[in-house]
Amino acid sequence: MSRAAFAKRFPEDRACALHLAAVRWPNGFVCPACGGVKGWGLSGKKFTWECAKCGRQTSVTAGTVMHRSKLPLTTWFMAIHLVSSHSNGISALQLQAQLGLGSYKTAWLMLQKLRRAMVDPHRSQLADLVEADETEIPYRTKDDPIGGGQGRSHVGKLLIIGAVELSEDGKPRRIRLEPLKDFTAASVTGFVERAVAPGAIVISDGLASYKGIQGRRHRPKVVGSMAAHVLLPWIHRVFANFKRWAMGTFHGVRKVHLHRYLDEFVYRWNRRRHVLAAFDTLLGLAMELQHASYRDFVAQQV
Ligand SMILES: [Zn+2]
Repeated sequence: MSRAAFAKRFPEDRACALHLAAVRWPNGFVCPACGGVKGWGLSGKKFTWECAKCGRQTSVTAGTVMHRSKLPLTTWFMAIHLVSSHSNGISALQLQAQLGLGSYKTAWLMLQKLRRAMVDPHRSQLADLVEADETEIPYRTKDDPIGGGQGRSHVGKLLIIGAVELSEDGKPRRIRLEPLKDFTAASVTGFVERAVAPGAIVISDGLASYKGIQGRRHRPKVVGSMAAHVLLPWIHRVFANFKRWAMGTFHGVRKVHLHRYLDEFVYRWNRRRHVLAAFDTLLGLAMELQHASYRDFVAQQV
């Protein structure tokens, strides 16, 4: 849908609220307190439904990224549309310009909240055959643009660990990426146990840290003289794509926010064939989250 068509579909907050109600209650209103199915929208209170049985009032934005936001729902909807329809993602600066927001901080916080919504709490672990490996990426410090890391003491490297699920004919299906603290067995196996289902076969290079993984069969490919990208082609393609995306769209990532960029990239990759459903997916996932404030985002450390 084009931007103009989207704006026409959701011209004012009421249209957005009705859409939210339809996503939240696909079979009609259900009271979260008593389960009653009869209710009505209150005319005096914006976007609030009242249960006919117990009188409980429920805001249609409760539990979504939009909850307690002073921004109009139309602004949020357009932000979700822009984020989900730009296949390469969008920076806070671009979002600020596109939405005509006065504050960079507002745009940045909207993006952080949407990235947080990009982790599906119901997603299943990678299964069957899984390639796993690690890589590093230079990070951007607060005051400097991205640097190459050549002899600049303030520019360091961030470690990333990732896994790709392969189909029977060796094609990539879903991925997972996480920041990696170090190469210890605890860090590596912790990721594998979160990301990969028991019983799956994990293909990695010969790194000793993989040896301790429980319940998954480990099939090391000893690297020796052969480059890792030859032995583990898909995870290396994912790493390369992530780096190009992080540099191209965001001009590098900041250390404290690495996990959110990884989440966004994983979200986009895993839905790369479902572009049309992306808006409702993001809206739907966003509806299961607890409220998070600006403080929650700036206080978070890797
Ligand atoms: Zn009720």
